[in-house]
Amino acid sequence: MSDEERRARRPQSMSRRYRQGLILVGVLCVLATLTAATLLFQRSYTERVDDTLHRLCATLAAGYTAQGTGDPDALAALVPGTGLRCTLIDADGNVLYDNQTTAPLPNHADRPEVQAALAQGSGSTIRESETMDRETHYYALRVDTPAGVQVVRVGQDVANIWGLSADSLPLLICAVVLILAGAAVLSWWMTRRLVQPINRLAENLDTIEADVPYEELIPLARTVQSDRKLREDNETMRREFTANVSHELKTPLTSISGYAELIETGMAKSEDVPAFAGRIHKEARRMIALVSDILQLSELDSTRGGHPRTAPAEMTPVDLAALVKETAQTMTVNARKAYVTLQYDARPATVRGTRDQLVELATNLCDNAIRYNRPGGHVELRCATGPDGCPYLEVADNGIGIPQESQSRIFERFYRVDKSRSKETGGTGLGLAIVKHIALLHEGRIDLQSQVGTGTTIRVTFPKP
Ligand code: ADP
Repeated sequence: MSDEERRARRPQSMSRRYRQGLILVGVLCVLATLTAATLLFQRSYTERVDDTLHRLCATLAAGYTAQGTGDPDALAALVPGTGLRCTLIDADGNVLYDNQTTAPLPNHADRPEVQAALAQGSGSTIRESETMDRETHYYALRVDTPAGVQVVRVGQDVANIWGLSADSLPLLICAVVLILAGAAVLSWWMTRRLVQPINRLAENLDTIEADVPYEELIPLARTVQSDRKLREDNETMRREFTANVSHELKTPLTSISGYAELIETGMAKSEDVPAFAGRIHKEARRMIALVSDILQLSELDSTRGGHPRTAPAEMTPVDLAALVKETAQTMTVNARKAYVTLQYDARPATVRGTRDQLVELATNLCDNAIRYNRPGGHVELRCATGPDGCPYLEVADNGIGIPQESQSRIFERFYRVDKSRSKETGGTGLGLAIVKHIALLHEGRIDLQSQVGTGTTIRVTFPKP
């Protein structure tokens, strides 16, 4: 990855994003509020203007009608000297009087408010002014005078929404600037309050779950905590394992070294040499078995990545029945040596898995059933598909059995119920740990039934293929 890419991938600043968000929200709120306020104000303002226009026009029309002359001058005398525009129009649309101009005005018959007043008695309209930011509101009333039907019309220029906005623009700018400044300070303070507990959290990861400041962070804290625990457990396990391995290797090595020294220095009588060589051979075989189990466990560990994981993609359907037959045949020699009868009952069952690992699992279980047995004992290897459709593999013996208190521990690495018996029979203390590992890789479940003096049955149930 180039430096540029790495820089581009750098995480964003949470404080900065949060601050920007707050400021943006602040500004948007101000703009929205001011727009809504301006709109509402303009509406109520024009309503009031219209209302005043109506009342003024009605007063003018009433005064003018009361005079009973139909003379425009009579209306001119009534018109107030305000900025109002007041016009008198006859039934043909001719302008008889306008208080803002003496120049002749064009015919007003086409004006909607005039047409409406002549037809319905009153009419109103709003027209754009010459300037963009203003509009003129007109209200017209029909009056019946001796001179005939006429229309009294009043009009007033009113600032429209643009005009009002332009008026409030300085206020708007001031408000935005103030809000921006306020939002900057407030957001800085709030961001600090938000981010500080998170920073503090990172300082003490041991109590992360108890100290978590926001409920949204609980999943993260949980993951961190469990990850740490897993790492610590792994570390402890690794340390214990190394210590155990060293110890297990040291014992045979010490014997080998001792016997070899006796032979080397000539202290061993010549008739003892074959026996010593035999012991050296036996200890070396034990070491080879131990090293090969360790290698196997470490290989399984690397497949598993230290975590129980779903089965790897290379798993294929494995015929358990064929596997059971094969294992039974391979173990027959061992069984004979231990004066144990070995039988199998292989019913159709298929497991999705790695064949070599499943062979190892069956062999280890079978080997234990033979080794922890008595002369004349019996071992049976079974496989079948359960009523729930799950295939299983089972090894049952009528051997020495496992005491209740040890049953939960026998799958631990190097745990043995009877250390000397295990060593005597060539056990490494890792067989069941390997079984557990392989079962885990296949998402299998191990069930153990055992009673001292009666025997042991271990069943591994696999998921449906
Ligand atoms: P080992 O190499 O010592 O046999 P394992 O991991 O295979 O190690 O087994 C752990 C211990 O569990 C054994 O030392 C033994 O005490 C006990 N054990 C395992 N299988 C049986 C069994 N079928 N009957 C009685 N005890 C058993």
